[in-house]
Amino acid sequence: MKAIRVHTPGGVDALRYEEVPVPTPAAGEVLVRIQAIGVNYIDIYFRTGLYKAELPVTLGMEAAGVVESAGPGVTEFAPGDRVAYAMARGSYAEYQTVAASSVVRLPAAIDFRQAAAAMLQGMTAHYLTHSTFPVQPGHTCLVHAAAGGAGLLIVQMAKMRGARVIGTTSSEAKAALAREAGADEMILYTERDFEPEVKRLTGGQGVEVVYDSVGAATFEKSLDCLKPRGMMVTFGNASGAVPPVPPLVLTQKGSLFLTRPSLAAYCASRSELLWRANDVLEWVATGKLKLRIERTYKLAAAAQAHIDLESRKTSGKLLLEP
Ligand code: NDP
Repeated sequence: MKAIRVHTPGGVDALRYEEVPVPTPAAGEVLVRIQAIGVNYIDIYFRTGLYKAELPVTLGMEAAGVVESAGPGVTEFAPGDRVAYAMARGSYAEYQTVAASSVVRLPAAIDFRQAAAAMLQGMTAHYLTHSTFPVQPGHTCLVHAAAGGAGLLIVQMAKMRGARVIGTTSSEAKAALAREAGADEMILYTERDFEPEVKRLTGGQGVEVVYDSVGAATFEKSLDCLKPRGMMVTFGNASGAVPPVPPLVLTQKGSLFLTRPSLAAYCASRSELLWRANDVLEWVATGKLKLRIERTYKLAAAAQAHIDLESRKTSGKLLLEP
């Protein structure tokens, strides 16, 4: 089968489209014939080496497809089942073995592309808005990169829960998409300083929570956008990793809370994974949650998907097809 692997971390030239053996499912695993692959920013971190993996590494954390075979001990899935998963590395491939405990069955109303577009960023938006900082009516949230893959879904879920949403993004076209997703106010943070804008939009009060996937470029000012006892949720590094922060800074800025969460820790049990995945897939099926699939590339053209994602050209989801 074909797969995209990295032997030495680096730029897009590090992506190699190569022939590898079809894996055999071990006990507790299923072998999935992949139909659609989700591209996520985390794939870039593994390509560049910001996140470490044993080399060579097959990139990709998310896909949807059909169970081809099941390893010993698997009772929940059988060949022919339509499934999807996230946070299982190795999805830039035609086949992948995945722990059956990480896999969810697809409802009939969801196709493979929708599933590959919804799982990782959808469950991320779910845990951020429902668990890390459970948004309530009356809250105001600041969502950075609000027109991104994760961003558009965070905006929609924060609105579903009754909050006011202030978003940031780099262009008018992206701002329009975030507004369509429900954002109440948008700030072009590449043109205006977002901190005084947030203060202005909140009558000087600040927001209850900042969802920040941009990282280094937005972190410090985001702390100044929070109300006393607000929560800074730094969950990504699109502009680079956030440097170390002395805890006293949190005191000085109003007894703030700071967290750096990951999806894996918020899908800690099978029941938690199923709660989040089933909510997301049901909301997509019923139209309550809208997906925006920006573009689908051939697996062999994964490098182009990375170039587009890194150059901030995209809004919503990028997919690969084997
Ligand atoms: P996006 O579609 O959001 O793409 C990244 C966006 O970040 C860009 O479109 C751009 O939006 C913005 N951005 C700001 N500065 C830069 C920069 N210097 N270079 C590139 N982009 C920049 O990607 P994803 O939805 O896949 O991921 C978003 C972030 O969320 C990533 O950091 C990812 O790691 C993180 N994430 C974290 C998870 C977790 O559990 N911790 C799970 C899922 C995602 P604009 O043009 O509007 O500025």
